[in-house]
Amino acid sequence: MEHIRSKKLYEEAKKYIPGGVNSPVRAFKSVGLDPVFIEKAKGSKVYDVDGNSYIDYICSWGPLILGHSNDEILDGIEEVLNRGTSYGIPTEIEVKMAKLITEAYPSVDMVRMVNSGTEATMSALRVARAYTKRNKIIKFEGCYHGHSDALLVKSGSGTLTYGVPTSPGVPKGTVEDTIVCTYNDIESVENIFNEQGEEIAAVIIEPVAGNMGVVPPKKEFLERLRKITKDYGTVLIFDEVITGFRLAYGGAQEVYGIEPDMTCFGKIIGGGLPVGAYGGKREIMKMVSPVGDVYQAGTLSGNPLAMYMGYKTIMKLKENKHIYDEIENKAKRLEEGFKENINKLDIDAEVNRIKGMLCLFFAEGPIKSYDDVSRCNTKKYGIYFREMLQRGVLMPPAQFEGIFLSTEHKDEDIEKTIKASYEALKIAYEK
Ligand SMILES: *Cc1c(COP(=O)(O)O)cnc(C)c1O
Repeated sequence: MEHIRSKKLYEEAKKYIPGGVNSPVRAFKSVGLDPVFIEKAKGSKVYDVDGNSYIDYICSWGPLILGHSNDEILDGIEEVLNRGTSYGIPTEIEVKMAKLITEAYPSVDMVRMVNSGTEATMSALRVARAYTKRNKIIKFEGCYHGHSDALLVKSGSGTLTYGVPTSPGVPKGTVEDTIVCTYNDIESVENIFNEQGEEIAAVIIEPVAGNMGVVPPKKEFLERLRKITKDYGTVLIFDEVITGFRLAYGGAQEVYGIEPDMTCFGKIIGGGLPVGAYGGKREIMKMVSPVGDVYQAGTLSGNPLAMYMGYKTIMKLKENKHIYDEIENKAKRLEEGFKENINKLDIDAEVNRIKGMLCLFFAEGPIKSYDDVSRCNTKKYGIYFREMLQRGVLMPPAQFEGIFLSTEHKDEDIEKTIKASYEALKIAYEK
């Protein structure tokens, strides 16, 4: 398998784009490879500029639950395009979209569209702070909520309660009000609330963590989180940018039966076009301008093309709920196959799966928090990734990313992946 044109493009790209990519993970740095450049994609496959094809488990990092360039979803897009690409003035599809989302999520009475998940979480926090008239927020180590300043933070060392910025350029002041707790460890949260619960505006969490591999929550952890935030009048924000319309039609909140006060969306609701949204209880969302005073705006928000693709995707899911069982069955088969491989090879590796989301960790289980994920052998993962790529399977180019499945991943794709995975694991663990 050759990557001559990809390499050439990469060299050229690096001259004009930082690192040659428009989002860091795409540089394949953590798997020790140059990135492949994609020419086209269809169904479960992506095709690179050198004519190689791969079974794709990135799926644009989640949006493509119906696979690449799905004919049914694309049908009609040309007509939308011909009517104009953006007006900056309201359209009917925005109303239909908002209605559809609020019907699917009983905790969401009103919703505001934005252009990315980053914008959604950033805006939700602003609203939560205005609503509670408090400043402090809690996030969890290993959860990713986009790249806004206040959320680029990890826990400080030792007994430090306050986080430290994870990126230069984030002033200490902007993360001063962000407290970092441990995922699945309710005590780490209760300790903070006991000391300063009255000052905490919001707790933001990925109800199933999908940015440190896949780490499901303990049910009791989420339940107690719900209770303590309610007791203290703190806004509980579920970041369902990945899990929304993926874990189930009604997201993680449906699966765990827990109603957050606010929810953030992205990925699937744009059907592959740039999108984000945040919503919640009417009382909270009425804070948002122009009804309330919390300012938040967007030139391209609710863009007709993104709304069209997102609306069609969600409608397809709504009318075909069996899709969720089908994707879960594929994830189950992958889990089973991976586990057989692990047993046969007698290696320290672990599979986490919840519904249709899963991850293969290069460390001994159980994997319940960021500390556990940090134990993974990322060097071996790099070898594994490269061996898989050679076998025509595109895994996520980092250990800390989940595997994304779509309706278009066929049984033969799954079986091929399990077989390739055995060979790649064997090589990775020999080295
Ligand atoms: C991807 C992601 C985001 C950020 O969304 P962007 O559209 O990339 O800004 C936020 N939260 C979670 C849970 C995500 O997975």
